[in-house]
Amino acid sequence: MHKAPRGTFDILPQEYAYWKYIEEKATSLCQLYGYQPLSTPIFEDAQLFTKTVAGGTDIVDKEMYIFEDKSGQELALRAELTAPVCRAYLEHGLFNLVQPVKLYYIGPAFRYERPQFGRYRQHHQFGFEALGDADPALDAEVIEMAQQFFYSLGLSRFSIQLNSIGCKLCRPGYLEVLRQHYASYTDQLCPDCKARLVKNPLRLLDCKKTSCQEIAKTAPKIPDYLCPECQLHFQSVQKYLGAMSIPFQLNHRLVRGLDYYTRTVFEVEPRDKGGQSTLGGGGRYDNLIEELGGKPTPAVGFAAGLERIILNLKKQKLDIPALPKPDAFIAYLEEEAKIEAMKLASELRKAGITVITATGDKSLKGQMRQANSLGIAYALILGEQELSKRNVMLRDMRSGEQKTIPLAEIATRLLNDIKQPEQV
Ligand code: AMP
Repeated sequence: MHKAPRGTFDILPQEYAYWKYIEEKATSLCQLYGYQPLSTPIFEDAQLFTKTVAGGTDIVDKEMYIFEDKSGQELALRAELTAPVCRAYLEHGLFNLVQPVKLYYIGPAFRYERPQFGRYRQHHQFGFEALGDADPALDAEVIEMAQQFFYSLGLSRFSIQLNSIGCKLCRPGYLEVLRQHYASYTDQLCPDCKARLVKNPLRLLDCKKTSCQEIAKTAPKIPDYLCPECQLHFQSVQKYLGAMSIPFQLNHRLVRGLDYYTRTVFEVEPRDKGGQSTLGGGGRYDNLIEELGGKPTPAVGFAAGLERIILNLKKQKLDIPALPKPDAFIAYLEEEAKIEAMKLASELRKAGITVITATGDKSLKGQMRQANSLGIAYALILGEQELSKRNVMLRDMRSGEQKTIPLAEIATRLLNDIKQPEQV
């Protein structure tokens, strides 16, 4: 027996209501803020990620699905979607449009991680990106959008963590003092942090090991080392957030797992934390497009994990609208009625009525049981008597009430009933 690969899962019909709910909320949010949809391939040139997300991050060092195709080209399943969006922005000359260009996406991402609750090897992200504008108002708007997204889903028990990690000019100075701080603790660092000290010191602040966290607590704080421009940017973001009454917590140890961020970084943390809890995160990445070969182009964005959202919706026992059920079930007795049933189903569907027709050799009782288990409101029964008079029996499955209706009128009758179900 085959099983879904470790760290992946099937989405069965009963789970689909959650996915549809989130996708609908995401789409209307993006419409509200003027973002347009974009879809990029599942796989890309491996270098798109190795160059931008960069070595020294877990994503590139340990988690990429990289493979050679039959022509020997090195490809990677996408580990995140921001770099692909920037690649598409450059490839299609979207920089020629009025800036900022505002785009959103929903789709799978792949990371070879140790699967656990809320952490998968294939997960799905909803994200939005505003490309081509350095205005701190845009950072604040993206943070507001993230907040409004979770509110629209019915999730409100979260906090927004905010930090600035500076730019090319001021970050190197900070990294130096950070290295000096950690240099006196090298013996106490976990093996990953020993490597980070050399390769990617900013990530030292993010280590989840208790012993390393103790060292991080006394580390110099990056906001104290920002250049005047980055300081002003950070203050402006906070000013706009204040003006929009968006609560946030300054967290000087927040650095994010991807290397391309500059200035603003933020994360949405649920209040009841589990191990793998972050609902979403984002920030500014003013160098990324240039690193991909474009002109210097500032940008800011956010991405949330759909699986984590679903876990939180379930934890908070939020009611999700059920997927629509078919309007009618057609049952019949004998072959002649079955032919009529097939014809009727076809006509009803053309009229916009969703229909399931009985198949196989179930008894009428079996057919009614099937209609019931599918939660269908109406059954249309075609028996010998009905057929001879060109009628059909309309049965309300909730009340059990039955009426004989001329076949020629059933579509109109059903359409009226579906629109005003209480008048059946
Ligand atoms: P990132 O691209 O790392 O900023 O991730 C964005 C969001 O995707 C995170 O905040 C999580 O909600 C979600 N996420 C990231 N990695 C995983 C994973 N392996 N499994 C499930 N969700 C994930």
